[in-house]
Amino acid sequence: MTKKHDVIICGSSLAGSAAGLALARRGHSVLMLDRAEFPRRKLCGGLLTWKSVKLLASHFGETPESLTRAGALTCSADGYSIRTLTKTLVNGKLPVPFHFVDRTRFDTHLMECARNAGAETIHGHKITGCDPIKGVVTLDNGHTLQGKYVIGADGANSTVRASFPDVDRTRMKQFMAPTIEISIPRTMLFRPIRNPELYVGFIDAGYGWVFPNQDKVVIGICGLRQDNFNISQVFKKFIDFLGINMRPFPELHGHPLPYGNYLETPVHGVTLLAGDAGGLVEPLFGEGIFFALCSGMYAGEAVAQGLETDTDASQYYTARLNHFILPELKASDRLRWILFKSMKAIGPTGLQLFVKAAGRPLTEMVHGIRSYAWLRKKHWDF
Ligand SMILES: Cc1cc2nc3c(=O)[nH]c(=O)nc-3n(C[C@H](O)[C@H](O)[C@H](O)COP(=O)(O)OP(=O)(O)OC[C@H]3O[C@@H](n4cnc5c(N)ncnc54)[C@H](O)[C@@H]3O)c2cc1C
Repeated sequence: MTKKHDVIICGSSLAGSAAGLALARRGHSVLMLDRAEFPRRKLCGGLLTWKSVKLLASHFGETPESLTRAGALTCSADGYSIRTLTKTLVNGKLPVPFHFVDRTRFDTHLMECARNAGAETIHGHKITGCDPIKGVVTLDNGHTLQGKYVIGADGANSTVRASFPDVDRTRMKQFMAPTIEISIPRTMLFRPIRNPELYVGFIDAGYGWVFPNQDKVVIGICGLRQDNFNISQVFKKFIDFLGINMRPFPELHGHPLPYGNYLETPVHGVTLLAGDAGGLVEPLFGEGIFFALCSGMYAGEAVAQGLETDTDASQYYTARLNHFILPELKASDRLRWILFKSMKAIGPTGLQLFVKAAGRPLTEMVHGIRSYAWLRKKHWDF
């Protein structure tokens, strides 16, 4: 057994860095583990909404300008479009811009914020096991580490979550969406792209995207598995539809996206799950960056409070999740089934009427200015 820390954080990406920063700045000894050496690649469209910008400012002290200077934020957009493969349903303006980050630089920058606040890191070793009651984590080099608390921020295929006995693994698997995403030079699209484009209707429960990102265009699809669903074939058809000449196809990369399998109580023993590890991703658009940052911050602050008052940290964590995050995920889950089912039953007309009628409040909902629950004004606690 090596040195003991107050908290072992499994995963140094977004949820892990937000948690590590919260704990380190309150003087707790924190060790962040990751199998990757940073900087590392992460498949992601990198779209940031208003609520992410708000949280980055309040928790990390970062602004779009400071992230741009760090090379992490690469471009912004003031509009969006939603399309089917045959027509444009809406070309909308945004009340505040979407921003796009390069995940390699963004993740490294936020991890460095936690490290500068005092968090220690061990990178380049895989976590192979966890005892969520004793707070013991095992690495692939045979070392074991123990914390008073463990935060599992190790992503969609979480090893820490696998150690929880009560997780509904069938539901977890059923709502884990496969994705495929590539980046191509802008010139390959043969048309300028300033704003994000979403494509619906060609996957039953999912969608495709074309996002601007500095000198690149990011193209991806995600969708729940259906009978005879081959995501590579669907992706190739999408590329052909976009008119991109890509023969022979490069090697395609995918990564699972939690898509409606959020855990309502992502805690067990002295272990808390944050971000993708807890399935905490918005189930309509698949927004995970904000929910990883926010749940990571909540987990870190809850553990700090538990350590400082010698009380159970999980109660503070679940209280904030229940108040601020889970209502959004549940309402978005309901909305997506209404939209996906209406697309299947009557085609895009229902969706088109909905986005046209809801207009600006709908974009405010995606940004987090309004709630997914009845478009009420949303109040965050940061
Ligand atoms: C194709 C795609 C596009 C996306 N686009 C967007 C988007 O545009 N906007 C948005 O908001 N969200 C998007 N998302 C979702 C978003 O990327 C995730 O929700 C977010 O990265 C979750 O952050 P996290 O910190 O929880 O986990 P991750 O970012 O997945 O980080 C987990 C970390 O844990 C480490 N790890 C994993 N297993 C182990 C192990 N056994 N041992 C040690 N370390 C381990 C990994 O190396 C990694 O660094 C997208 C997802 C995908 C797949």
